[in-house]
Amino acid sequence: MPLYEFKCLDCHAQFEKICGIEWNNAPHSVICPKCGHNNLQKLISQFAGTGRAGGSGCSSCSGNRCGSCK
Ligand SMILES: [Zn+2]
Repeated sequence: MPLYEFKCLDCHAQFEKICGIEWNNAPHSVICPKCGHNNLQKLISQFAGTGRAGGSGCSSCSGNRCGSCK
């Protein structure tokens, strides 16, 4: 499951949320846990930024893709 990082544009809180397809279907279902607003900016997620960049990986894989790389 992709982990997204959000920033609230109202109170500037940052938080992470694991969301799957529901983000694409209903982005406004994600609300700020601090102020309850949904005026959010989605930041670069750890998963979205993987690709082939870096490539250091961990002891159990070579591409930052396994569960140990989180
Ligand atoms: Zn907020």
